[in-house]
Amino acid sequence: MDMQVTEMFDQIHPAWLSRVSHAMAEGEGVRESFLLQLDRFWESLQKAVVTGDASCLDPLLIEWAQARTQTELEEQETSLPPILRIILLLTFDVAHEALNDSDALVLIGKILPVYTYALEFTTRLETQLHIDHFSKELEKATSELKRLDKSKSDFIAVAAHELKTPLTLIEGYASMLKEQLIQGYDPSQIELYLQGVDTGGHRLREIVDDMIDVSMIDNNMLSINFQPLWLNRLLRIVEAEFAEPINERNQTLIINPFPGSDQMTFGDGDRLFQAFRNVIANAIKYTPDGGTITVDGRLLPGFVEVTISDDGIGIDPDDYNRIFEKFGRLGNVALHSSSKTKFKGGGPGLGLPIAKGIIEAHGGAIWVESEGYDEVKCPGSTFHILLPMRKEIPDDKIAKLFRSLNEPVRID
Ligand code: ADP
Repeated sequence: MDMQVTEMFDQIHPAWLSRVSHAMAEGEGVRESFLLQLDRFWESLQKAVVTGDASCLDPLLIEWAQARTQTELEEQETSLPPILRIILLLTFDVAHEALNDSDALVLIGKILPVYTYALEFTTRLETQLHIDHFSKELEKATSELKRLDKSKSDFIAVAAHELKTPLTLIEGYASMLKEQLIQGYDPSQIELYLQGVDTGGHRLREIVDDMIDVSMIDNNMLSINFQPLWLNRLLRIVEAEFAEPINERNQTLIINPFPGSDQMTFGDGDRLFQAFRNVIANAIKYTPDGGTITVDGRLLPGFVEVTISDDGIGIDPDDYNRIFEKFGRLGNVALHSSSKTKFKGGGPGLGLPIAKGIIEAHGGAIWVESEGYDEVKCPGSTFHILLPMRKEIPDDKIAKLFRSLNEPVRID
């Protein structure tokens, strides 16, 4: 009996293969790889019928089910049961054509339970795959929501802490001023206290300004006021800004002249100053006393690349992206010390996202490289800032206005 079935299988094989492959795959290329799959199916089907063990088809069906694309999973398409149904109907047709009626009936009788099993198996399999897929998606969405929620509560914690420090300073000095006024005052003390109030107010304003900037960047509202500028001049202003903390921390800030730094380019001087200031402030902050910060660069076709290297505590490669996210500061919120240049002084974690927003609004890019984070060995970090060298203002209307005044125009 088994022998007979095997013979029947052999007899209808060529017709079956040609019929099914033509019905299901268009184009020679597709058909060829499809033929291989069909042959494997045929072998498994035959084995299942001969041994009476329908699960012989399982490995192939699992493979087919798993080969489905992400889109098919997302659209919840059931792809295998309809395919199996077509193969079944074509098998009936071919059996009727190639065999006599009673043989065809025997073969169909043998094949039918295997198909029923295969249909049920693939339906279950696909349902399970859909469930797995959506569970994974759900997990992803939940963890993203958790991350967002954490970032929000981190922000509240950091913002509260950051705002509280200068506020305490202002309150303290204000109450001392009040006492002085009541008790009769010493002018030199008054001046000192007023200075304290001023410093606190200044720090508060900086934090609030950073928050406004980051929200403008988030909403694509950061406007860039293009003006002619020279990077070497800009860096000299940054150098002057940090002269005092560099001196206090016994650090060295080296700004090397580099090709392109003395060439005129269009950019927003104030905003770029802010970006460089944030990156250099970090280099100072995350480098121990006595360390060196080096600014260098090179000219590339159409771009200038500025590097800011320090020999500080370094950054773990896993955190390369996180530090550019808002409130992406690393470490413990409670350990914050709210100083702009003190070693590991910390801040609200807005410095780098603002720098990134400004550089990207100029059509540039910013990234970091470091061997890793190590507060003992201090492997250092290098921030790269890539900026386009612009020979004209990239605003359509203004560019047109300039063009009409300066014909002909050369765009480098
Ligand atoms: P913060 O206000 O905390 O300085 P930033 O956005 O400026 O926020 O920086 C984000 C985080 O990136 C910092 O908290 C710090 O952990 C890390 N970081 C930035 N610059 C450096 C650097 N030069 N060396 C080591 N770590 C750095």
